[in-house]
Amino acid sequence: GSERARDRGIAYYKPSRDSYSAERLTLVSELRHAIDNNKLALYLQPKLSLKSRQIVGYEALIRWPDREQPVTPDQLIALAEQSGLIKPLTRWVLQEALHLRSRLLELGFDAGIAVNISPNNLREPDFAVFVQRLMQSFHAHMGAITFEVTETSMMQDPVNSLKALNALNAAGIPLSIDDFGSGYSSLSYIKQLPASEIKIDRSLITELSHREEDRVIVRTTIDMCHSLGYTVVAEGVEDEETLALLEDMGCDLIQGYILTRPLPFDGLVDWMSGQPRRSRISAS
Ligand code: C2E
Ligand code: MG
Ligand code: MG
Ligand code: MG
Repeated sequence: GSERARDRGIAYYKPSRDSYSAERLTLVSELRHAIDNNKLALYLQPKLSLKSRQIVGYEALIRWPDREQPVTPDQLIALAEQSGLIKPLTRWVLQEALHLRSRLLELGFDAGIAVNISPNNLREPDFAVFVQRLMQSFHAHMGAITFEVTETSMMQDPVNSLKALNALNAAGIPLSIDDFGSGYSSLSYIKQLPASEIKIDRSLITELSHREEDRVIVRTTIDMCHSLGYTVVAEGVEDEETLALLEDMGCDLIQGYILTRPLPFDGLVDWMSGQPRRSRISAS
Protein backbone atom coordinates (compact mmCIF):
# COMPACT_ATOMS: atom_id res chain seq x y z
CA GLY A 1 0.00 0.00 0.00
CA SER A 2 2.96 2.32 -0.39
CA GLU A 3 1.41 4.16 -3.34
CA ARG A 4 -1.71 4.97 -1.34
CA ALA A 5 0.37 5.93 1.64
CA ARG A 6 2.25 8.33 -0.57
CA ASP A 7 -0.95 9.75 -1.98
CA ARG A 8 -2.09 10.55 1.51
CA GLY A 9 1.19 12.32 2.13
CA ILE A 10 2.46 9.67 4.51
CA ALA A 11 6.16 9.05 4.27
CA TYR A 12 7.12 5.89 2.46
CA TYR A 13 8.14 3.15 4.83
CA LYS A 14 11.02 1.12 3.43
CA PRO A 15 10.71 -2.26 5.08
CA SER A 16 13.74 -4.22 6.09
CA ARG A 17 13.05 -7.85 6.91
CA ASP A 18 11.61 -7.24 10.35
CA SER A 19 10.17 -3.77 9.77
CA TYR A 20 6.61 -4.80 10.40
CA SER A 21 7.27 -6.86 13.50
CA ALA A 22 4.95 -6.05 16.37
CA GLU A 23 7.93 -4.95 18.42
CA ARG A 24 9.03 -2.47 15.83
CA LEU A 25 5.57 -1.06 15.30
CA THR A 26 5.24 -0.56 19.05
CA LEU A 27 8.58 1.22 19.11
CA VAL A 28 7.51 3.53 16.29
CA SER A 29 4.31 4.45 18.09
CA GLU A 30 6.24 5.01 21.31
CA LEU A 31 8.64 7.27 19.45
CA ARG A 32 5.75 9.23 17.94
CA HIS A 33 4.32 9.64 21.42
CA ALA A 34 7.70 10.72 22.80
CA ILE A 35 8.09 13.40 20.11
CA ASP A 36 4.56 14.72 20.61
CA ASN A 37 4.81 14.78 24.38
CA ASN A 38 8.26 16.26 24.83
CA LYS A 39 9.72 13.03 26.19
CA LEU A 40 12.94 13.24 24.18
CA ALA A 41 15.95 15.18 25.44
CA LEU A 42 18.78 17.09 23.80
CA TYR A 43 22.18 16.69 25.36
CA LEU A 44 24.92 19.18 24.55
CA GLN A 45 28.60 18.52 23.93
CA PRO A 46 30.97 21.50 23.86
CA LYS A 47 33.47 22.33 21.10
CA LEU A 48 36.78 23.76 22.30
CA SER A 49 39.01 26.08 20.27
CA LEU A 50 42.62 24.91 20.63
CA LYS A 51 43.86 28.43 19.91
CA SER A 52 41.75 30.49 22.29
CA ARG A 53 41.01 27.65 24.73
CA GLN A 54 37.43 28.84 24.72
CA ILE A 55 34.22 26.91 24.25
CA VAL A 56 33.01 28.14 20.88
CA GLY A 57 29.87 26.08 20.43
CA TYR A 58 27.87 23.01 21.36
CA GLU A 59 26.57 20.03 19.42
CA ALA A 60 23.02 18.95 20.18
CA LEU A 61 22.61 15.17 20.45
CA ILE A 62 19.28 13.40 20.81
CA ARG A 63 18.50 11.16 23.77
CA TRP A 64 15.49 9.04 24.63
CA PRO A 65 15.67 8.86 28.41
CA ASP A 66 13.69 6.81 30.92
CA ARG A 67 13.37 3.72 28.80
CA GLU A 68 13.50 0.21 30.17
CA GLN A 69 14.92 -0.96 26.84
CA PRO A 70 17.47 1.66 25.85
CA VAL A 71 17.49 2.91 22.27
CA THR A 72 20.77 4.38 21.09
CA PRO A 73 20.75 7.68 19.17
CA ASP A 74 21.84 5.85 16.00
CA GLN A 75 18.94 3.38 16.36
CA LEU A 76 16.53 6.17 17.20
CA ILE A 77 17.49 8.18 14.12
CA ALA A 78 17.35 5.12 11.84
CA LEU A 79 13.89 4.29 13.19
CA ALA A 80 12.71 7.87 12.68
CA GLU A 81 14.08 7.93 9.14
CA GLN A 82 12.42 4.63 8.20
CA SER A 83 9.06 5.47 9.75
CA GLY A 84 8.67 9.02 8.48
CA LEU A 85 9.09 10.46 11.98
CA ILE A 86 12.33 12.23 11.11
CA LYS A 87 10.41 15.31 10.03
CA PRO A 88 8.63 15.96 13.37
CA LEU A 89 11.72 14.75 15.24
CA THR A 90 14.06 17.23 13.56
CA ARG A 91 11.55 20.03 14.05
CA TRP A 92 11.42 19.22 17.75
CA VAL A 93 15.24 19.10 17.88
CA LEU A 94 15.58 22.49 16.18
CA GLN A 95 13.05 24.11 18.47
CA GLU A 96 14.64 22.60 21.57
CA ALA A 97 18.14 23.59 20.39
CA LEU A 98 17.05 27.21 19.98
CA HIS A 99 15.31 27.09 23.35
CA LEU A 100 18.46 25.78 25.07
CA ARG A 101 20.52 28.41 23.29
CA SER A 102 18.26 31.16 24.68
CA ARG A 103 18.72 29.72 28.16
CA LEU A 104 22.52 29.65 27.71
CA LEU A 105 22.45 33.28 26.56
CA GLU A 106 20.43 34.26 29.64
CA LEU A 107 23.18 32.72 31.76
CA GLY A 108 25.87 34.68 29.92
CA PHE A 109 27.17 31.92 27.68
CA ASP A 110 27.32 32.84 24.03
CA ALA A 111 27.80 30.12 21.47
CA GLY A 112 26.18 28.57 18.48
CA ILE A 113 24.49 25.19 18.49
CA ALA A 114 25.16 22.51 15.89
CA VAL A 115 22.24 20.29 14.94
CA ASN A 116 22.57 17.02 13.02
CA ILE A 117 20.32 16.93 9.98
CA SER A 118 19.13 13.89 8.04
CA PRO A 119 19.10 13.87 4.24
CA ASN A 120 15.33 13.30 4.37
CA ASN A 121 14.90 16.68 6.04
CA LEU A 122 16.48 18.34 3.01
CA ARG A 123 13.73 16.81 0.84
CA GLU A 124 10.96 18.54 2.79
CA PRO A 125 9.79 21.34 0.48
CA ASP A 126 9.07 23.70 3.38
CA PHE A 127 12.17 22.92 5.45
CA ALA A 128 14.08 26.15 4.78
CA VAL A 129 10.97 28.23 5.44
CA PHE A 130 10.34 26.35 8.69
CA VAL A 131 13.91 26.95 9.86
CA GLN A 132 13.83 30.63 8.99
CA ARG A 133 10.51 31.22 10.78
CA LEU A 134 11.72 29.33 13.82
CA MET A 135 14.93 31.37 13.98
CA GLN A 136 12.95 34.58 13.70
CA SER A 137 10.63 33.54 16.49
CA PHE A 138 13.67 33.02 18.74
CA HIS A 139 15.32 36.25 17.54
CA ALA A 140 18.27 34.08 16.57
CA HIS A 141 20.85 35.73 14.36
CA MET A 142 22.51 34.17 11.31
CA GLY A 143 24.94 31.54 12.46
CA ALA A 144 23.13 30.81 15.73
CA ILE A 145 22.42 27.32 14.40
CA THR A 146 24.85 25.25 12.32
CA PHE A 147 23.77 22.13 10.44
CA GLU A 148 25.91 18.99 10.49
CA VAL A 149 25.45 16.58 7.60
CA THR A 150 27.48 13.50 6.73
CA GLU A 151 29.14 13.19 3.37
CA THR A 152 27.74 9.67 2.93
CA SER A 153 24.14 10.70 3.54
CA MET A 154 24.36 13.52 1.01
CA MET A 155 25.39 11.06 -1.69
CA GLN A 156 21.91 9.46 -1.66
CA ASP A 157 20.58 12.47 -3.50
CA PRO A 158 23.53 14.75 -4.30
CA VAL A 159 21.82 17.21 -6.62
CA ASN A 160 18.80 17.97 -4.46
CA SER A 161 20.81 17.94 -1.23
CA LEU A 162 23.13 20.53 -2.72
CA LYS A 163 20.20 22.73 -3.75
CA ALA A 164 18.62 22.55 -0.31
CA LEU A 165 21.89 23.26 1.49
CA ASN A 166 22.60 26.23 -0.74
CA ALA A 167 19.19 27.68 0.09
CA LEU A 168 19.72 27.14 3.81
CA ASN A 169 23.20 28.60 3.66
CA ALA A 170 21.88 31.68 1.88
CA ALA A 171 19.37 31.98 4.73
CA GLY A 172 22.20 32.13 7.27
CA ILE A 173 22.74 28.51 8.29
CA PRO A 174 26.43 27.52 8.25
CA LEU A 175 27.18 23.96 7.20
CA SER A 176 29.54 21.45 8.74
CA ILE A 177 30.56 18.13 7.16
CA ASP A 178 30.28 15.43 9.82
CA ASP A 179 32.19 12.12 10.07
CA PHE A 180 34.66 13.18 7.37
CA GLY A 181 36.90 10.33 6.32
CA SER A 182 34.54 7.58 7.49
CA GLY A 183 32.87 6.76 4.20
CA TYR A 184 33.60 6.96 0.55
CA SER A 185 34.42 10.63 0.40
CA SER A 186 33.97 12.40 -2.82
CA LEU A 187 35.97 15.57 -2.48
CA SER A 188 34.77 16.75 -5.86
CA TYR A 189 31.26 16.71 -4.41
CA ILE A 190 32.12 18.07 -0.96
CA LYS A 191 33.92 21.05 -2.43
CA GLN A 192 30.65 22.13 -4.08
CA LEU A 193 28.82 22.15 -0.73
CA PRO A 194 28.51 25.51 1.03
CA ALA A 195 30.38 24.16 4.07
CA SER A 196 32.69 26.16 6.30
CA GLU A 197 33.68 23.35 8.66
CA ILE A 198 34.89 19.75 8.39
CA LYS A 199 34.67 17.31 11.28
CA ILE A 200 37.21 14.49 11.11
CA ASP A 201 35.57 11.20 12.06
CA ARG A 202 36.23 9.69 15.45
CA SER A 203 37.57 6.49 13.84
CA LEU A 204 40.64 8.43 12.65
CA ILE A 205 41.14 10.17 16.01
CA THR A 206 40.68 7.46 18.65
CA GLU A 207 43.95 5.64 17.92
CA LEU A 208 45.90 8.71 16.83
CA SER A 209 48.66 8.35 19.42
CA HIS A 210 49.17 4.66 18.57
CA ARG A 211 48.88 4.67 14.79
CA GLU A 212 51.39 6.37 12.55
CA GLU A 213 49.08 5.92 9.51
CA ASP A 214 46.25 7.76 11.25
CA ARG A 215 48.62 10.60 12.09
CA VAL A 216 49.63 10.87 8.44
CA ILE A 217 46.00 10.87 7.31
CA VAL A 218 44.84 13.37 9.93
CA ARG A 219 47.79 15.72 9.41
CA THR A 220 47.28 15.69 5.65
CA THR A 221 43.52 16.12 6.01
CA ILE A 222 43.97 19.14 8.28
CA ASP A 223 46.44 20.76 5.87
CA MET A 224 44.23 20.08 2.88
CA CYS A 225 41.10 21.39 4.61
CA HIS A 226 42.95 24.52 5.69
CA SER A 227 44.19 25.10 2.15
CA LEU A 228 40.56 24.83 1.01
CA GLY A 229 39.50 27.33 3.66
CA TYR A 230 37.66 25.03 6.10
CA THR A 231 37.71 25.12 9.87
CA VAL A 232 38.72 21.66 11.11
CA VAL A 233 37.17 19.87 14.09
CA ALA A 234 38.44 16.58 15.52
CA GLU A 235 35.72 14.38 17.04
CA GLY A 236 36.21 11.82 19.77
CA VAL A 237 39.29 13.22 21.51
CA GLU A 238 39.65 11.20 24.68
CA ASP A 239 43.14 11.90 26.08
CA GLU A 240 45.82 14.56 26.51
CA GLU A 241 48.26 12.90 24.13
CA THR A 242 45.75 13.05 21.28
CA LEU A 243 44.90 16.65 22.12
CA ALA A 244 48.61 17.60 22.01
CA LEU A 245 49.09 15.87 18.65
CA LEU A 246 46.08 17.68 17.18
CA GLU A 247 47.30 20.99 18.52
CA ASP A 248 50.66 20.35 16.91
CA MET A 249 48.92 19.55 13.62
CA GLY A 250 47.10 22.88 13.73
CA CYS A 251 43.61 21.44 14.27
CA ASP A 252 41.18 24.27 15.06
CA LEU A 253 38.58 22.72 17.34
CA ILE A 254 38.10 19.52 19.32
CA GLN A 255 35.20 17.61 20.82
CA GLY A 256 35.32 14.51 22.95
CA TYR A 257 35.25 12.87 26.31
CA ILE A 258 38.50 14.63 27.26
CA LEU A 259 36.33 17.71 27.74
CA THR A 260 33.10 16.01 28.68
CA ARG A 261 30.53 13.53 27.46
CA PRO A 262 27.39 15.11 26.04
CA LEU A 263 25.49 16.53 29.04
CA PRO A 264 21.90 17.46 29.83
CA PHE A 265 21.38 21.23 30.11
CA ASP A 266 21.84 21.53 33.89
CA GLY A 267 24.92 19.31 33.81
CA LEU A 268 26.40 21.41 31.04
CA VAL A 269 25.83 24.64 32.97
CA ASP A 270 27.57 23.12 36.00
CA TRP A 271 30.44 22.00 33.79
CA MET A 272 30.74 25.44 32.14
CA SER A 273 30.95 27.05 35.58
CA GLY A 274 34.19 25.16 36.09
CA GLN A 275 35.64 26.45 32.80
CA PRO A 276 37.92 29.50 32.47
CA ARG A 277 36.01 32.70 32.94
CA ARG A 278 36.70 33.96 29.42
CA SER A 279 34.26 31.35 28.11
CA ARG A 280 31.65 33.79 29.35
CA ILE A 281 30.70 36.94 27.50
CA SER A 282 29.56 38.95 30.52
CA ALA A 283 32.26 40.05 32.92
CA SER A 284 29.99 40.44 35.92
P1 C2E B 1 27.72 12.40 15.41
O1 C2E B 1 26.96 13.59 14.95
O2 C2E B 1 28.98 12.08 14.69
O3 C2E B 1 27.99 12.64 16.96
C1 C2E B 1 29.16 12.26 17.63
C2 C2E B 1 28.94 11.02 18.46
O4 C2E B 1 30.16 10.68 19.13
C3 C2E B 1 27.90 11.17 19.57
O5 C2E B 1 27.25 9.91 19.71
C4 C2E B 1 28.75 11.47 20.79
O6 C2E B 1 28.12 11.15 22.01
C5 C2E B 1 29.95 10.61 20.52
N1 C2E B 1 31.18 11.08 21.16
C6 C2E B 1 31.54 12.35 21.42
N2 C2E B 1 32.78 12.40 21.97
C7 C2E B 1 33.21 11.13 22.04
C8 C2E B 1 34.44 10.52 22.52
O7 C2E B 1 35.38 11.17 22.97
N3 C2E B 1 34.53 9.16 22.43
C9 C2E B 1 33.50 8.40 21.94
N4 C2E B 1 33.67 7.09 21.92
N5 C2E B 1 32.35 8.95 21.48
C10 C2E B 1 32.22 10.29 21.53
P2 C2E B 1 25.69 9.78 19.93
O8 C2E B 1 25.22 10.88 20.83
O9 C2E B 1 25.41 8.38 20.30
O10 C2E B 1 25.10 10.07 18.48
C11 C2E B 1 25.36 9.19 17.42
C12 C2E B 1 24.93 9.76 16.09
O11 C2E B 1 23.51 9.90 16.04
C13 C2E B 1 25.47 11.16 15.81
O12 C2E B 1 26.80 11.08 15.35
C14 C2E B 1 24.50 11.64 14.75
O13 C2E B 1 24.87 11.14 13.49
C15 C2E B 1 23.21 10.98 15.18
N6 C2E B 1 22.38 11.97 15.91
C16 C2E B 1 22.41 12.32 17.22
N7 C2E B 1 21.47 13.25 17.49
C17 C2E B 1 20.84 13.51 16.31
C18 C2E B 1 19.75 14.38 15.92
O14 C2E B 1 19.21 15.17 16.71
N8 C2E B 1 19.37 14.34 14.60
C19 C2E B 1 19.97 13.50 13.70
N9 C2E B 1 19.54 13.53 12.42
N10 C2E B 1 21.00 12.70 14.03
C20 C2E B 1 21.42 12.69 15.30
MG1 MG C 1 27.42 15.47 14.47
MG1 MG D 1 30.41 12.96 13.82
MG1 MG E 1 28.37 9.93 13.53
